[in-house]
Amino acid sequence: MMTPFRNEAFTDFSKPDNKAAFEGALQRVESELGLTYPIVIGGKRIVTSRTLASTNPSFFEQLVGNVCQADRELAELAVRTAAETFETWKETSAAARARLLYKAAAIMRRRKHEFSAWLVYEAGKTWPEADADTAEAIDFMEFYGREMERIGGAGALVTIEGEHNELTYIPLGVGIVIPPWNFPLAIMAGMTTASIVTGNTVVLKPASPTPVIAAKFVQLLEEAGLPPGVVNYLPGPGSEIGDYLVEHPLTRFISFTGSREVGLGINEKASKTSPGQKWIKRVIAEMGGKDAIIVDEDGDIELAADAITASAFGYSGQKCSACSRAIVHESKYNEVLARVIEKTKRLTIGNARNLSTAMGPVIDRNAFEKIMAYIEIGRAEGRIAHGGNRGAPQGFFIEPTIIADVDSKARVSQEEIFGPVVSFTKASSFEEALAFANDTDYGLTGAVISSNRDHLELARKAFHVGNLYFNRKCTGALVGVHPFGGFNMSGTDSKAGGHDYLLLFTQAKIVSERM
Ligand code: GLU
Repeated sequence: MMTPFRNEAFTDFSKPDNKAAFEGALQRVESELGLTYPIVIGGKRIVTSRTLASTNPSFFEQLVGNVCQADRELAELAVRTAAETFETWKETSAAARARLLYKAAAIMRRRKHEFSAWLVYEAGKTWPEADADTAEAIDFMEFYGREMERIGGAGALVTIEGEHNELTYIPLGVGIVIPPWNFPLAIMAGMTTASIVTGNTVVLKPASPTPVIAAKFVQLLEEAGLPPGVVNYLPGPGSEIGDYLVEHPLTRFISFTGSREVGLGINEKASKTSPGQKWIKRVIAEMGGKDAIIVDEDGDIELAADAITASAFGYSGQKCSACSRAIVHESKYNEVLARVIEKTKRLTIGNARNLSTAMGPVIDRNAFEKIMAYIEIGRAEGRIAHGGNRGAPQGFFIEPTIIADVDSKARVSQEEIFGPVVSFTKASSFEEALAFANDTDYGLTGAVISSNRDHLELARKAFHVGNLYFNRKCTGALVGVHPFGGFNMSGTDSKAGGHDYLLLFTQAKIVSERM
């Protein structure tokens, strides 16, 4: 019997022992930087002549690792291998698959700081952000293991005389898992282990900026006893192998987290039936956000400023849950803006390797250029109240940027920037604030800072987002506590870390026997 699920605790870095342990992990991982990571298909290591360098966004001269790059031939081999392995993996028991996840979680817990250290170097995460990413990866495995045991048990059916009826959730087949780089451990591990614990096999195409952390995770699954071929690690250029994997007739489902543009492209391609294909492909997609925090007339200013600052600039705003719009009642607008500026001034920007750093870099050159271009757009659409410049040149640093007096129809209010940029918009009433907040194609997260019960109840019904928070930040969903996923262009509302999630990776079968 497993203990009930509990979220993994975050590490308290004010404790000298924890600080020393994390520093030790950073040093050990530093000595392992620069290795070459092969493709893994059916348990076999495949080294290609073509590799891609993964570098540290805090200090881009530092090579994290070189990663072999698959072409279509290897993509074909990976899908075929996954399809062959499915024939045996689907026969394993739900309990055995769940145990594998518990084992993997236990190994990761023992090596927690080591995994977090990789996140510091490869994703530019600060210590607490890296620690939270690793904790969430552990949570996903512990949670999905228990969930599989739950749905793998006898289904809740109405009983009738003279018949024995049984409901089982059987796997789908080969899944293509395309995770994001912003939670390169947690979300990657969550999508992968949800797929395999339900009995599917996987071709895992890691995000190009963060393939090493995924390679480390695949090694961990092997250590935990995962048979060869259940998860096939296939880094490679999305333009070359991405469509190929999605369109393959043996692909049964695609689990994707990333941009709206790529997600919609996958959805379209997956909807076309390839010759020889026997099913309708399923797409589980988690895409962007344009998330707003509303500050009401009687909202607590200090709380509002803390929530906005944390949600806008945590991990440099590179969360689909990040607050990119502060919508503030006109009576509180100047005060809230001033407090957010003060708090933002206190954030130390720099190399994520230092514990004192509150905000690290953005992920890569593409992101850097896109965000800087949006800041220029914002300069024309509003007033730069803080930041607006690039930071130290050795990494992809951008100052946390606050754009004041922005119209809710402005481009910076409508388009996802995915960086440390927040716009401030004035509203003349709570109803108007709510209308501004909902005036977006997305619907992922949102928050309301208010002590007006009627307004909170109104928002509860009318604020159209998958994850709505009252009097707190809009990031940091916890597995099991806040199942995560949104509406409209934010994706398929798949609710990762919730009780419905694993059903997306299964199909239900009824067997009815006359007694
Ligand atoms: N689940 C994360 C949060 O609540 C965000 C995930 C994402 O950015 O993809 O902050």
